[in-house]
Amino acid sequence: MTYDAHSRPPKKTIGELLFIERIRTRASASFSSAVRLGIGDDCAILKPIPGHELLVTTDFSLEGRHFRRDWHSAASAGHRTIARGLSDLAAMGAKPLAAFLSLALPRSAARNTRWLDGFLDGLLSLANTHSVPLAGGDTSESPSDQILADIVLIGSAPAGRALRRSTARAGDLLYCTGSLGGAAAELAALAASPRRFRSADSSGDHPHLFPQPRLAAGAALLRRRLASSCIDLSDGLSTDLTHICKESKVAAEIDAVALPIHPLAQLLGPDHALHAALHGGEDYELLFTARPTAKLPRALGGVRITKIGRILTARKPRPQITLIDRQGHRSALAPHGWEYFT
Ligand SMILES: [Mg+2]
Repeated sequence: MTYDAHSRPPKKTIGELLFIERIRTRASASFSSAVRLGIGDDCAILKPIPGHELLVTTDFSLEGRHFRRDWHSAASAGHRTIARGLSDLAAMGAKPLAAFLSLALPRSAARNTRWLDGFLDGLLSLANTHSVPLAGGDTSESPSDQILADIVLIGSAPAGRALRRSTARAGDLLYCTGSLGGAAAELAALAASPRRFRSADSSGDHPHLFPQPRLAAGAALLRRRLASSCIDLSDGLSTDLTHICKESKVAAEIDAVALPIHPLAQLLGPDHALHAALHGGEDYELLFTARPTAKLPRALGGVRITKIGRILTARKPRPQITLIDRQGHRSALAPHGWEYFT
């Protein structure tokens, strides 16, 4: 089913209508007081919390770029699709209110509903964990052989209080939640042997296949006014710290010895482990700064907090980011962002 300049936009096929009904039945299990009206009318109706602002984030999950059907189970693809948006809300300290999913399935995947059901299993399971209703969306037949998903997350934060990446100041200390490099290490293992991961599910520690967005930690940072700036580690520490430095017009230093390396990354040996921690993407931990006088607990929202460096004045010829290695040598650290599968 296609359309061009000479034809009208296609009507929904019976298959697409069935999908919508299927998604609606599955989604109605979730509930939120912020959603007055969910799937079933022309629009959803949300009720903002008085004194709060709305936060909106949108993310593509494209087959071949963000997941592969021969590597990722449908549940992993669904989990990862919503995890990315939830992590963006976590980075700003927001409470998620509702999710909206647009999904295009190729005819081959549309013939049976097994992939869709697995995808919804993964997506709705993480949504339910964080009490986020799927309040709407759209389905269509994909014009290619690829599955295309797009998700919109709506969140809420007290007016003027959302955490930002532009508010770090020289003298602040630099922290991260959880551990780093695990997603890159698991992705490398997955690429080498996809069959080993067929039965992986969200109950195990699978930093690449089933990342856990740090919503409780982000909410605690906002509520307790602990963070001076915050971002989520989606592209890798070197790249995401560069975002903080650019937006805040500061420089930063990282202590290599302080970095909390994920056990899966430690298996790679020290050099590769450090590389995965600095440049591996998709850990979905939070990277944040705090005033030197702030009293940080050892854990927030059930996740460990580690001090990994400090914020400095941006001043030529000082590099934007300096890495201090085990021997105390300083070198400039260039951002090496996340590279996708293609
Ligand atoms: Mg982000």
